[in-house]
Amino acid sequence: MLLPRSTDIFVIGGGPAGLAAAIAARRRGFDVTVADAAVPPIDKACGEGIMPDGVEAARSLGLRLETVEGRRFGGIRFCEGGATVEAGFPSGFGLGLRRTTLHQMMVDRAAEAGVRLLWGAHITGIGKEGVFAGDRLVRARWIVGADGGQSPVRRWAGLDACVRESRRFGFRRHYAVERWSDFMEVHWGDGCQLYITPIGPREICVVLIGRNPHMRLDDALPQFPDVVRRLAGPPNRAGLLDRATPADRATPAERGCVSASRRLQSVYRGNVALLGDASGSVDAITGEGLCLLFQQSVALAEALEAGDLARYQTAHRRIGRRPEFMADLMLLLDSRSRLRRRALRALASHPALFGRMLAMHLGEISPKDFLTNSLALGWHILTI
Ligand SMILES: Cc1cc2nc3c(=O)[nH]c(=O)nc-3n(C[C@H](O)[C@H](O)[C@H](O)COP(=O)(O)OP(=O)(O)OC[C@H]3O[C@@H](n4cnc5c(N)ncnc54)[C@H](O)[C@@H]3O)c2cc1C
Repeated sequence: MLLPRSTDIFVIGGGPAGLAAAIAARRRGFDVTVADAAVPPIDKACGEGIMPDGVEAARSLGLRLETVEGRRFGGIRFCEGGATVEAGFPSGFGLGLRRTTLHQMMVDRAAEAGVRLLWGAHITGIGKEGVFAGDRLVRARWIVGADGGQSPVRRWAGLDACVRESRRFGFRRHYAVERWSDFMEVHWGDGCQLYITPIGPREICVVLIGRNPHMRLDDALPQFPDVVRRLAGPPNRAGLLDRATPADRATPAERGCVSASRRLQSVYRGNVALLGDASGSVDAITGEGLCLLFQQSVALAEALEAGDLARYQTAHRRIGRRPEFMADLMLLLDSRSRLRRRALRALASHPALFGRMLAMHLGEISPKDFLTNSLALGWHILTI
């Protein structure tokens, strides 16, 4: 590993957040170094769905995610028991993209932009002058901690204090089956959800999220007989009953990860700024993690150019507000099953409300419409 003696910006962590931050900063002319302990393409448990606002935010970094192999989806569908409610996106499209495909694409774009990329480089500390890899110091004017939810940089910089924090647990597996709908689906069960994203011509990504760290996909699937049937695939050509089970169509490896809802008191101190999951996160069920970090990267590059990280703090708060609200709503539905069933029934009998809720999620309606829609939904829940 060839460490430079100095750099304008040293980014610790070369996941999506670190690479997005590096690309945004290079576009403003900074000399940028990224170091990651792992080697690309880096995989991680993720629902692998990017909402239309995320596709758009990536575009503002010059990343055209739709040009790599993935699958577009046109909206969101909620399912519970036999009840279903769905809505198309008001504009644009969502994208299902394997995590490793996304990562490799971002690595390539960062390299083309002239970012110095150090893989297999474990960073062991930070100081006033820069960053340490063992006993080697790399001088840096700015340090960016994009080192994920467990962020050592956050701890080293004394930024661990939280305004709020809670955790759920996510497990991901790929299945080799045809997609069965044009939607990203969220299936609600007791104390958990499955969400399902098409990611390739014959591949879908299934994530289980719940509060029980010991519950795996195979434990949860019996709660979702419709999903089990579809994952097992169609009957064979002779029309005989297919004996396949979901396990036959699954990749053997199941990846797990903590899905944290975390808001920090501050996302910077001195010349150190945090970004992506290191800087706080919303529950995975929102599908907004990648959108957030793309938006944060642009805001951070602007603040670095202005030499004023307080601007980044303000922008970071603004960017997180809507996804946090939607995450709170989803977690309320997760914890209150009777309320959830009533809400789903209300939405199913007034599908336009669900469409507006989705538009709200994507920031496409005004605060006034947002309030009107919330009141209408509340009323229908009470009266259904
Ligand atoms: C179960 C689950 C499902 C999700 N589904 C979706 C979804 O469908 N859509 C969506 O938009 N978001 C989703 N998210 C959120 C999304 O995955 C995260 O927001 C995103 O991965 C955060 O990226 P990051 O770069 O901040 O962190 P990471 O991807 O965790 O990257 C951090 C990097 O830092 C490196 N690192 C750490 N410490 C050091 C060190 N000391 N030295 C060098 N390198 C270091 C690590 O090797 C790692 O590569 C989901 C999250 C979970 C948990």
